[in-house]
Amino acid sequence: GTDVQSSLYEKYESEVRSYCRLIPHELTKATNAYVHTSAGIRYIDFFSGCGALNYGHNDPDMRNALVEYISGDGIAHSLDFHSESKGAFIKEFADKILLPRGLDYKIQFTGPTGTNAVEAALKLARKATGRVNVVAFTNSFHGVSLGSLAATANQHHRGVSGIALSGVSRAPYADYFGREVDTLPWLEQMLSDPSSGIDPPAAIIVETVQGEGGLNCASAEWLRRLRALATRHGALLIVDDVQAGCGRTGSFFSFEFAEIVPDIVVLAKSLSGFGIPLAAVLLRPELDVWQAAEHNGTFRGNNHAFVTARLAIAKFWSDSSFSASVEAKSRAVGAVLDSLQHRTGRLRKGRGLMQGLRCQKAESAAEIQRRCLEAGLLLERSGPHDEVLKLMPPLTIEDEVLEEGLSRFSEVALSVRD
Ligand code: PMP
Repeated sequence: GTDVQSSLYEKYESEVRSYCRLIPHELTKATNAYVHTSAGIRYIDFFSGCGALNYGHNDPDMRNALVEYISGDGIAHSLDFHSESKGAFIKEFADKILLPRGLDYKIQFTGPTGTNAVEAALKLARKATGRVNVVAFTNSFHGVSLGSLAATANQHHRGVSGIALSGVSRAPYADYFGREVDTLPWLEQMLSDPSSGIDPPAAIIVETVQGEGGLNCASAEWLRRLRALATRHGALLIVDDVQAGCGRTGSFFSFEFAEIVPDIVVLAKSLSGFGIPLAAVLLRPELDVWQAAEHNGTFRGNNHAFVTARLAIAKFWSDSSFSASVEAKSRAVGAVLDSLQHRTGRLRKGRGLMQGLRCQKAESAAEIQRRCLEAGLLLERSGPHDEVLKLMPPLTIEDEVLEEGLSRFSEVALSVRD
C-alpha cells in the first residue's frame, strides 16, 4: 500500500537510481525464477538481473559449494597468485566449453564488471594491432566507463554529452535500415576508401543480439561476412557476449550459431553463475601481448565466483541437454510472441531466451511493464526509446513457471493498446 511505499521512499531517500522506483518494496529472498518481497509478494522473474542470473537465484548446488568453501577457509582474495579455485575453474572452462567447440583462447580475468572487461578488450586490441580506431555499431551497449561509453551508441546511456573518449567510428548494425538492407557493403566501402574519414580500426566490436539496444539481431550470414571483413582489414573481431553469452541464446557463446571464431570474446554477468561479479576476456593466444602490470586491478578474478562458476559449467554444460532445454523454452516464448505480433502488430524481437516485443509507442511499453509488475511479473524494457519489452527469464525456469509468466505477459500486452 501507499504507507509502505512512502516509508520506503523515506528510507531510501539517498538512493539515486532507477529500478528501485519500479517496485515499492524491498526484495528479500529468491529461488530460481521466483523473487519475494517484504510485502509478501512473489514475482516471477523475467529480468534475471539483466542476464546476470542465467542459472536462476540461489542454485542449491552452487550455494552449498560456496558455503562449504567459505566454511573451510578457502582463499577469498588472491589477486594474480594461483589458487585452487581459479585453477579448477580454468580447467573446467577449457574442458567443457573451449575444447568441445574447438576454440583456443587464453583467459584474462579483468575487473569484475562487463564494463571492465570491454575496456580491457579495447585496450588489448589497440596494443596488439598498434592501431587506435575502433568500429562499433548503432544501438550498441558496451559499458559505462569513458572508453566503453565511446563504443556505446545510445545518447541517453552516455548520460553526459561529449564525455566519451574518442577513437570510435560508428557503423550501421545488421538490421539498422530494416531486414532488407545489407549494411556490410557500406562498412566495406568506408574501410576500403582512404578518403572515407575512417581510420583503419584496431577492432570491430559487436553484439550478436543487442540487449540494451532493443533486441536487434544479426544473422549468421551477416556475422560470417563481418568476420571476413574484419580479417580483410586487419581488424580484430571482438564479440561482446556480456549479455547474450553464458547460454542466453541457447548455446554457451551467442556466436556459435554463425560458426565464427572471434579474436576476442568478452564475458561477464552470468559467468560466475550465481550473481557474484566475475568478468573475463578470451583472447587468441597470439594476442597475449601484455607485460606484467600493464593492465592490472585489485579485483581481477574472485575466488568465491570461481567456485560457483566452475560448478555452473560442470552442472549445466557437460552435455547438450541444457542447451536443448533452453532452445525448447525459447520456442515457447517465440510462439507466444508470434501470436502477440499477429494480434497486435507489435514486432517480435530477439533470439533464444532474450526475446521481446516492440511497441509502437514507448508509453504503451511503460504501461505494459507497470501492469506486469502489478500482475507479479518482473521485466525490463530496452531499445532507443525503451519501447521494447524484454523477456529474460532464468534459463533454468521451470516449464510451468515460464508458462504462467508468459500467460500473465500476454494478458497484459493484449489489454494495452498502442
Ligand atoms: N556489454 C553488454 C552487451 C551489456 O549488456 C552490458 C550490461 N548491460 C555491459 C557490456 C556492461 O556490463 P556491466 O553492467 O557489468 O558493466
